[in-house]
Amino acid sequence: MEGSSKERLPLVEEFFSVQGEGFHTGRAAYFIRLGGCDIGCSWCDTPFSWDPQLHPMVETDIIIDHVIQSGTDSAVITGGEPLMWNLDYLCSGLKRQKIRTFIETSGAYPLSGNWDWICLSPKKAKPPRDEVCRKADELKVIIEDNSDFDWAEKHKKIVNKKCRLFLQPEWSRFERIIPEIVSYVKKNPEWRISLQVHKYMHIP
Ligand code: SF4
Repeated sequence: MEGSSKERLPLVEEFFSVQGEGFHTGRAAYFIRLGGCDIGCSWCDTPFSWDPQLHPMVETDIIIDHVIQSGTDSAVITGGEPLMWNLDYLCSGLKRQKIRTFIETSGAYPLSGNWDWICLSPKKAKPPRDEVCRKADELKVIIEDNSDFDWAEKHKKIVNKKCRLFLQPEWSRFERIIPEIVSYVKKNPEWRISLQVHKYMHIP
């Protein structure tokens, strides 16, 4: 699917909401969820996005129009794994409209698009490419068990020095894992905790 879409993208859903995770928590933004992901995280909360063929190929200009009509100044492109698609056309169209561009990615596919903010969430099943690690503004590692702390530290060494570092409890194991994460950030203060606050607010 790499580079296959200049003018159409598989649109799973789009909605105007508030970023619930990571550095930009609390920021209003228009979310564009693209179909396609072959990574298969066991705890994925959007498995309906995995098969792009289940979703309509929507003209990218129409998607951009919806962002403009929402009145927001920020768009978050998420998935699925959005970098399975070439996002140059989408990004340049949003930029022309002075919309800030944010992406949530595993980093497993080549980087396309011109981003104001890259949030990298590396997955063990398909590790991120070095080019995405080097350009990431934010490293957000999902903590499911104690082995994930090593995975987080491994990527801390690869990302650039300005990259913000977050540990986020895997939602279904929150009660069990959050004490471990709290203990970890006390000993390793360069890391911050990211919570999925949109779930507490009951918004998408
Ligand atoms: S990379 Fe994201 S969309 Fe893909 S399976 Fe993992 S959590 Fe789900």
